[in-house]
Amino acid sequence: MARIVMKFGGTSVADIARIHNVARHVKREVDAGHEVAVVVSAMAGKTNELVQWAQEMPRVSGADSPFFDAREYDTIVASGEQVTSGLLAIALQSIGVDARSWQGWQIPIRTDNAHGAARILEIDGSEIVRRMGLGQVAVITGFQGLAPDNRIATLGRGGSDTSAVAVAAALKADRCDIYTDVDGVYTTDPRVEPKARRLSRISFEEMLELASQGAKVLQVRSVELAMVHKVRTFVRSSFEDPDAPGMGDFDNPPGTLICDEDEIVEQQVVTGIAYAKDEAQISLRRVADRPGVSAGIFGPLAEANINVDMIVQNVSEDGSKTDMTFTVPTGDLEKAVRVLEKVKDSVGFDVIQSEAGLVKVSVIGIGMRSHAGVAATAFKALAEKGINIRAITTSEIKISILIDGPYAELAVRTLHSVYGLDKQ
Ligand code: ASP
Ligand code: MG
Repeated sequence: MARIVMKFGGTSVADIARIHNVARHVKREVDAGHEVAVVVSAMAGKTNELVQWAQEMPRVSGADSPFFDAREYDTIVASGEQVTSGLLAIALQSIGVDARSWQGWQIPIRTDNAHGAARILEIDGSEIVRRMGLGQVAVITGFQGLAPDNRIATLGRGGSDTSAVAVAAALKADRCDIYTDVDGVYTTDPRVEPKARRLSRISFEEMLELASQGAKVLQVRSVELAMVHKVRTFVRSSFEDPDAPGMGDFDNPPGTLICDEDEIVEQQVVTGIAYAKDEAQISLRRVADRPGVSAGIFGPLAEANINVDMIVQNVSEDGSKTDMTFTVPTGDLEKAVRVLEKVKDSVGFDVIQSEAGLVKVSVIGIGMRSHAGVAATAFKALAEKGINIRAITTSEIKISILIDGPYAELAVRTLHSVYGLDKQ
């Protein structure tokens, strides 16, 4: 007997029939004798609709400003999960499984006060554990908790993955199964490269890089939490027949296991290729080369809540002027340029050049730590396809390359093949 947290995303609970199917997945684990807690998302599309309503309200009411109270935003958008939790509890009861819904505040899942982007601070799992001991399934709303102001707070889009991992850590679960509309984590996006393979295992570190660099399977924060608390996390599909052979296999369920690197026997040099579209490049030309310049540039950008990603600074030729290049999301480009125009004189640079619609392609693999030449292989392969590289950044286990948008797919396929990731 084990303790399992099962999380179902929006597409898995998109309608009544799918919720019934989810209930059958849960029943399979309960019938096998496991203690089960479930974390649910809102039905697909629901959160988008709720967010849109919240955003429209000030305008329709004739307010001067488009801004709204984040506490009320949370009240609105948290309601999607509330509906799913009740529906799944009924579905479970209908097929003979004892179940009860739990809103984040009822447990409580305590968060900080950052409404709309809260972080989980603490979860009191004692009542859930007691009830699991009596055979009851807890159906918990993802994406939300209770803030210190005693109000509902949501965790940011995609946050129910994080809820699930946090609940698994709090309940000391043996496993956290993230059920979604794909059957695992792939070497790259199969829509771009049909030869992408499903990974049977991937390390926490690699998954963190994949998710941060654009793979959309899991919320980044959920992978960080899984890594810190060493929660064995499986990504698997909810669309398969719940009673198909192997679905209930405890040690090797179908899907991808995200785990400690020690558990991965056959380590590849490169594990996956991720890409992120809609990157924009900003270059500041002839920036004064003196202490405080970077702070003068990136401080105001941070204050404006603009997320800067790749940063490349040249060594100046004569110690007086240099170039500074960095990337921001295309959606933030205009705002970033406006912020920079304002500090132009105080920082001291000549011109701002910018380019939108770029793509960042990243090669990820723990094996890079111990293998030379991984980056050179990528550069050579891209050169052979005539793909120009605009900027490069690296970490211990990642190489990110900024290129022009139209080359994204060619670059992903080229790198996927050059590192031997194509399926045979
Ligand atoms: N329903 C929320 C969203 O769409 C949370 C989640 O699905 O993870 O962002
Ligand atoms: Mg999601």
